[in-house]
Amino acid sequence: MFKTNYKNEVVEIRGHKIGLDESKLIKIPIDRLPTGTLIEIPVYVFNGKEAGPTVLLQGGLHGDEVNSIELIRRMLIDKSYKIYRGCVIVVPLLNVFGFLNLSRDMHGKDVNRSFPGSKKGSLASRMAYYLMKELVLNVDFGIDFHTGGEQRCNYPQVRYTPQDNRAKALATLFNAPFMFGSKLIPKSFRNECFKNNIPILVFEGGESLRLNPISIEKGINGTLNILRYFNMINKDVNITTATKSIQISKRKWVRANIAGLFSSTIKNGEKVQKGQVLGLIMDTYGETNFKVKAPHDGYVIAVNNFPIINMGDALFHIGS
Ligand SMILES: [Zn+2]
Repeated sequence: MFKTNYKNEVVEIRGHKIGLDESKLIKIPIDRLPTGTLIEIPVYVFNGKEAGPTVLLQGGLHGDEVNSIELIRRMLIDKSYKIYRGCVIVVPLLNVFGFLNLSRDMHGKDVNRSFPGSKKGSLASRMAYYLMKELVLNVDFGIDFHTGGEQRCNYPQVRYTPQDNRAKALATLFNAPFMFGSKLIPKSFRNECFKNNIPILVFEGGESLRLNPISIEKGINGTLNILRYFNMINKDVNITTATKSIQISKRKWVRANIAGLFSSTIKNGEKVQKGQVLGLIMDTYGETNFKVKAPHDGYVIAVNNFPIINMGDALFHIGS
């Protein structure tokens, strides 16, 4: 399914050459702030001695999704990228602007809805264009790390393109607590990579602007599982063994029937039964106490941690 005739060669990015058994930090300039300050995207390249796949690990496509940035950073300090075979291209933080503005977007635009992008478009569009052209088109596969939007906390999970067998195989190897196929979204990074025959796994763990230790741990373990499978890292590297990933085939958000103060009474990731109370929506005067119940058996794969709820807001993502 995966090719076996990899070449081991010098990698070249923006005029920087990374030889065999070499690693390098490259800074790709993308724009200037109105004050003239240059904005650069740091990219680490770890090129192994022997032939193997070239893998992209990308964090912070959405600037406020801090778990994606933190887990990549932690792997950098843990020296997880001692690469023997193939090449790993690591982007710890793609959306520098979103990170600075505590926003998923880049100047009001979602980079993940800006592909394929263009040379002369908005900053998000240019970012998408150059990301594909300079980094992504030469990789064999990649992992794009995300978190739930706002305060919707995703229990660690990987999503793959259902019609892409290699992406599904990568999801199985990753072995996150949950895995499922998810439809391609037009203009997204995964969609653009699919069009270019590059399988991308999307990891989701935790929520925006809050570090979530279990998501960071599962994200690191999954990445190491994949790198180890392809013999890119030392076979003896210690990976916390987890139970087998649970395949989800149906997913649905449980939404609020009433507005009020919301609090969850279950744990994220938990198995729940039809009719089980998942949380409470209360008015602010202590008069009412509305029980939110599970519509069917399944697993809680995301919980909204935001306490002020309007009717129709997504509360629990249940997968079965
Ligand atoms: Zn995201």
